Amino acid sequence: LNHNYIAQKIESSVLNIRHLTDHTFIITVERHNINFQPGQYMIVKFPHDRESREYSIYNKVDDDYLQFLIRDVKDGYLSSRLKIINQGTLIEMEGPYGFFTLPVTNKNSNKYVFIATGTGISPIHSILTSEPGIDYQIIHGIRIPEEKYQFTDFKQANYKACVTGVHSNDFHGRVTDYLKTEKPNAEATYYLSGNSAMINDVTNYLLASQIPIERINTEIYF
Ligand SMILES: Cc1cc2nc3c(=O)[nH]c(=O)nc-3n(C[C@H](O)[C@H](O)[C@H](O)COP(=O)(O)OP(=O)(O)OC[C@H]3O[C@@H](n4cnc5c(N)ncnc54)[C@H](O)[C@@H]3O)c2cc1C
Repeated sequence: LNHNYIAQKIESSVLNIRHLTDHTFIITVERHNINFQPGQYMIVKFPHDRESREYSIYNKVDDDYLQFLIRDVKDGYLSSRLKIINQGTLIEMEGPYGFFTLPVTNKNSNKYVFIATGTGISPIHSILTSEPGIDYQIIHGIRIPEEKYQFTDFKQANYKACVTGVHSNDFHGRVTDYLKTEKPNAEATYYLSGNSAMINDVTNYLLASQIPIERINTEIYF
């Protein structure tokens, strides 16, 4: 591995594709010498195609491959094509990019609250499988319980699913409904990732609860 985080452009073979639900899958690709900080993303495309999209890296920092957790967006150009690729298919990647990462210093002296919708859990999965010892809480907004994906990789007491689509054993409602059930932790650093509607609502709520903007990090998917 190189020891800087300068973005590179590489071609990688798909090593594996695994379907977690009818709509969401994990693609594993060759890492080559890409060095990343957990929470960063890659820009992905097919060689000779002009369309590219950003995907957060899902796996932990010392794995010798890269993984992406992707939902097939209805009529989506790239996600629907990625869903049907095979082992050995070549993809082109550029990166890593992004600042949705833990602080470089005093990582372990902070409390963290991660709030995601859907595949917005991906960068959080990379961060927490890389740094399992930090003090964290996760609030994950999903439509159905299957979208908890690989939540058993997290400390169970610290993972809260908020399910909107069906009634289940999980909290029923949006992440903002759940957040309002208790006062936000004034000392925590917040990481929000996923759709912009959630990120805007939660950011406004946290700001109204006197959380300083410097402690609210966001990664907007769409
Ligand atoms: C920094 C960053 C990181 C990202 N990381 C991930 C990731 O880890 N996993 C992932 O699945 N996506 C991720 N995305 C979203 C991804 O880049 C694409 O936008 C998404 O896959 C749709 O691309 P497409 O070509 O299939 O759809 P397009 O043909 O571009 O159509 C996009 C349409 O679908 C909507 N849309 C985009 N994403 C979603 C979604 N997830 N759910 C519902 N509607 C959507 C858009 O608003 C638009 O209307 C990330 C985006 C950014 C900016």
